[in-house]
Amino acid sequence: MSHFVYANGKMHAEEVPLERIAAEFGTPVYVYSSASLTENFLSYANACRANGRGEQGALVCYSVKSNSNLAVLSLLGKLGSGFDIVSGGELERVIAAGGNPHKVIFSGVGKTRDEMRLALAYDILCFNVESIPELHRLNDVAGSVGKRARVSLRVNPDVDPKTHPYISTGLKENKFGIAFEDALDTYRVATSLPHLDVTGIDCHIGSQLLDDAPLLEALDKVIELADRLHVAGIDLHHLDIGGGIGITYDDEKPVAVGDYLSRLFARIDGWRKEKHGGTPITVMFEPGRSIVGNAGVLVTEVQYLKHGASKNFAVVDAAMNDLMRPAMYEAWHGVLPVTQREASARVYDVVGPVCESGDWLARERALAVEPGDLLAIMSAGAYGMTMASNYNTRGRAAEVLVNGEQFRLIRRRETPSELFSLENV
Ligand SMILES: *Cc1c(COP(=O)(O)O)cnc(C)c1O
Repeated sequence: MSHFVYANGKMHAEEVPLERIAAEFGTPVYVYSSASLTENFLSYANACRANGRGEQGALVCYSVKSNSNLAVLSLLGKLGSGFDIVSGGELERVIAAGGNPHKVIFSGVGKTRDEMRLALAYDILCFNVESIPELHRLNDVAGSVGKRARVSLRVNPDVDPKTHPYISTGLKENKFGIAFEDALDTYRVATSLPHLDVTGIDCHIGSQLLDDAPLLEALDKVIELADRLHVAGIDLHHLDIGGGIGITYDDEKPVAVGDYLSRLFARIDGWRKEKHGGTPITVMFEPGRSIVGNAGVLVTEVQYLKHGASKNFAVVDAAMNDLMRPAMYEAWHGVLPVTQREASARVYDVVGPVCESGDWLARERALAVEPGDLLAIMSAGAYGMTMASNYNTRGRAAEVLVNGEQFRLIRRRETPSELFSLENV
């Protein structure tokens, strides 16, 4: 259910008119809905419970890179979420937000020694390792601080997720994961290293997947590999199938999380019964977009209307530095007026003030707008603010979290002097 809906011609986030938030905190501003974040997280957690998984049997590790605001992390942490991080910085955020480090898994191809030391000091749940050199480095670092590191190997099942090439990660030509053919040997290396405990297997084949068939195909390959490892004397404690369920930006119809998880658990249960005498295996997920994507909008103010010979432009105060997705992947975001007008619409490209032709947020949209109007860029909760930059010395947008009738600033806008405060003449 969307928590961004019109009442009396004005778009609200839950019970708060977006107009009020813009008046108080200015634009551009990201607005997130607590109810939406909660519902989306619970769609995973409840499906785990409905399929017989308690605290021990399943863990949802929210992918921090999709939206890493401390208030978002804190809300999800209180609901019981674990966290999937890809940097030491993200780990520091999880800790600052009160998240539980023992529910943190660390993904990514380029972990540094410092990041490994930090994660070991917090005794995180698991490192998702992506190469043999990384195994050796982690073993060295763990030995040097007198600890053992729990590891899972990220395998690359070579499954086509049928999504945008930039967000497809499980194909042979991608930089991610360990090739399937090399997995057994890599596990042998991992189990031979004295400061590592091999606990799991993981994969993540891509993002914005609308259908779960590729995910279930990847699961089958991971299961097949887990059985080969079992024969080789390596038994795993958990299986992590990554993130990746997509959301509706326009008219996409993604599989329901509950349906996907039911199918996934049915396969896992069948496998455990048939091959492993019913001994359980913990199942982990790393969802990002499906939790935050539709829980956020970017509110922006129209500055100018330009009526050209072949195109009309609505120049707004948000730009590619605030929301990179259109410039980076030609991503489509809905654009809706915050206050509906009784006027005839014209077709506009919605563009920002940044000096790049790639600086557009939406193309060819029918809008009835005037300068000074507010627009809501929809489905902007994931990979929005986390990808924002200060290009053109633009302070990043403010962020606001709504809960029912209440709303609060969870990140204030940067000032120009803050943007160069780390520099010297
Ligand atoms: C980005 C990422 C995710 C989250 O993907 P979504 O499509 O946002 O669910 C999960 N796992 C890993 C390893 C990632 O890199």
